[in-house]
Amino acid sequence: MIELQRINKSYNTETTNLHVLKDLSLTIAAGEMVSLMGSSGSGKSTLLNILGILDSYDSGEYHLDGRLIRDMSEHTAALYRSKTIGFVFQSFNLIGFKTAAENVALPLYYQGVSFKKRHKMALDSLERFGLLDWAEHLPSQMSGGQNQRVAIARALVTKPRIILADEPTGALDSENSNDIIAVLNEINKEGITVVIVTHEEDIAEQTKRCVRIQDGKIISDSAVSK
Ligand code: ADP
Ligand code: MG
Repeated sequence: MIELQRINKSYNTETTNLHVLKDLSLTIAAGEMVSLMGSSGSGKSTLLNILGILDSYDSGEYHLDGRLIRDMSEHTAALYRSKTIGFVFQSFNLIGFKTAAENVALPLYYQGVSFKKRHKMALDSLERFGLLDWAEHLPSQMSGGQNQRVAIARALVTKPRIILADEPTGALDSENSNDIIAVLNEINKEGITVVIVTHEEDIAEQTKRCVRIQDGKIISDSAVSK
């Protein structure tokens, strides 16, 4: 499903050339539950952004479902993303002045779904994560764990086949972290491919495969023993 071959990515400024991903190759099959582990600055977010077609790469090839992802227009990339990929971020990225239901419905708005239908779908998605009673609340009126579950409900409302989560537990205490990983495991059981970036060992241990990145290269890739 996800196939990266010898990907290189640099960030260039006037004074420096920072080579972040170095000939990185990685294959992830449909239905996998993978953690990308590495210390801060190792290139995890850069890699996840390329997987999510949020950023480009300099050389190599990225195939998603057999299709070469390269030089896509922003419009094509956005369309492809919205049909295929759901994102979850450390800081939730909810819109502060919109209710939980409105936040969850937003990706459907961009897909042109009618107000009534997207509201219904948003409520269904919130209900699934035990948040129906919070549908009319603002992010500031909910806990961090609840906000992240709203963000997951939003990521899933478009029925993506892949969930990409960048440090989804980074802003949560351990109880809420475990709850979020349990939710992501449940989603994975339904066949959705889940990729979680983390620097926490105990989070990686709750996935099925752990890919370790150091200095822009994969240094290990192994099944997680339970
Ligand atoms: P991680 O997510 O593993 O902490 P990142 O992929 O965010 O690492 O960053 C890898 C390196 O690239 C870091 O040194 C970071 O400072 C740098 N970097 C990330 N994004 C940019 C950018 N947009 N411009 C310049 N440098 C960047
Ligand atoms: Mg990062």
